[in-house]
Amino acid sequence: GQCTVVCPTGALKETDGLTPVWRALADPGKRVVVQVAPAVRAALGEEFGLPVGTPVTGKMATALHEIGFDDVFDTLFSADLTILEEGTELLGRLNAVLKGDDNKEGPTALPMITSCSPGWIKHIEHQFPEELDHLSTCKSPHTMLGAVVKSFYAERTGTDPKDMFVVSVMPCTAKKYEIQRPEMEVDGRRDVDAVLTTRELARMIKKAGLDFVNLPEGEFDSPLGLGTGAADIFGVTGGVMEAALRTVYEVVTGRELPFEKLHVTPIVGLDQVKTASITIEEPLPVYGHLNGVTVNVAVTSGLEGASKLMEEVAAGTSPYHFIEVMGCPGGCINGGGQPRCTEENYREKRSKALYSEDERKVLRKSHENPDLMKLYNEYLGEPNGHLSHHLLHTHYVRRGKYNQLVK
Ligand code: SF4
Repeated sequence: GQCTVVCPTGALKETDGLTPVWRALADPGKRVVVQVAPAVRAALGEEFGLPVGTPVTGKMATALHEIGFDDVFDTLFSADLTILEEGTELLGRLNAVLKGDDNKEGPTALPMITSCSPGWIKHIEHQFPEELDHLSTCKSPHTMLGAVVKSFYAERTGTDPKDMFVVSVMPCTAKKYEIQRPEMEVDGRRDVDAVLTTRELARMIKKAGLDFVNLPEGEFDSPLGLGTGAADIFGVTGGVMEAALRTVYEVVTGRELPFEKLHVTPIVGLDQVKTASITIEEPLPVYGHLNGVTVNVAVTSGLEGASKLMEEVAAGTSPYHFIEVMGCPGGCINGGGQPRCTEENYREKRSKALYSEDERKVLRKSHENPDLMKLYNEYLGEPNGHLSHHLLHTHYVRRGKYNQLVK
C-alpha cells in the first residue's frame, strides 16, 4: 500500500483471512488492488444494520479507499468482459455445430455451460468428469480481472506484476480455493492473491473504525472500475444468462433483446430449473445461417438442479444450447461468504437490490461498456483472440469418479 493504512496494529496478529491483506496494505513495496463481486453490494449493508436488500455500492467504494487500497476496481468490469468472451465462445460453438465451421479451436460441444461458479466446477469435475468439454473455457470474472491487472494494468502503471497484490471480495468461500488452482495462473503467476468474503470485508471495515452507514457515496477507479447493468445481475440466478442474451442477440440481429426492460422473464426468479427459448429472426447477413434457429437455454442454481440437467447432457438428450449453473440456490446473493440472514424472503430482497442497480444505469449491455471496448482496442484485440486465450481462458480437470475408475 502506498499511503494511509488505517489498520490498527493489533489486527496484524490475527491469523485469519484478513492477515495477508493487512500485511500487503502495510507493505510499501506492494501495489494492492481490490475488486468486489456484484452480490457483495446487495448484502454488505446487513452487517451494519441496514434493511435487507439495500444496495451499498457507493459506501463500499468509499470504505475500500479509506482502508487504503491503492486501486479500487470492480468485478463488474470483468463480468462484462466475461460476457464478451463467453458470448463469442457460444457463437463459435453454434457456428461449429450449425454451420459445420471446423475452424473453431477448442471444445465445440453443445450445450455450453457457464463456468463462473467454483462450487459448480468442483461438482462437475467430480461427478461428470466425462462432460468437461461442455464447460465454457472462460475463467471466472474475478480471476479474469486479476489476470488483466497483472498484465495490462501492471504495464500501464510501470509496476512489476510481482509487486501487485490482488484482493477479491466475494460472496463465496469456494473462491478461496479457486485462486489456488494451477489452472488460474498465467505464466506461473496467480491471478488473485487473496479472497475475502463479504463478512470478512465487514470485519475489516469495523476494525478500520469506519462509520459505514454514514460514509459518502464514492466511486470505483478507472480504468477497470466501470460495469454495466448486465454485470450487476451476475450475482443472481439467471443473471449471467440474461446478460449474455442481451449481448449475443443484439450482435446477431442488430436489435435489442425483445423483452420488457431487457429482463428475460422466464429465467428470472428462484425456481430450481428455469428455461426459455428464443428464435432468431432476420439476423444480420453474416449470421444468416442462424435464421429461424431457436436457441434453448436453461438456468439452475443449487447442485440438485445441476445434476438433473447434467444427466440429460450425459445421455445426449439435452435440448439446450446454453446452460447457466450456479452452485448456491438463488446464486451468489446467497453464497457461503454472505452475511447470515434469517429474514423471510431475504434472497428475493437481495436479488431485487441487484436488479435495481441494473435498471438505474444508462449502460445495461456488456458490449456498451466503453472502458471494456478500449481494453479490447488498445490491448486484448478480439474477444477469444490469442491474448484473451492466454489470459482469460482455462481448462478443467477430471477428478473424483474418473480417477477412481482408471485406478
Ligand atoms: Fe460461489 Fe455460490 Fe456464487 Fe458459485 S453460486 S460463485 S459457489 S457464491
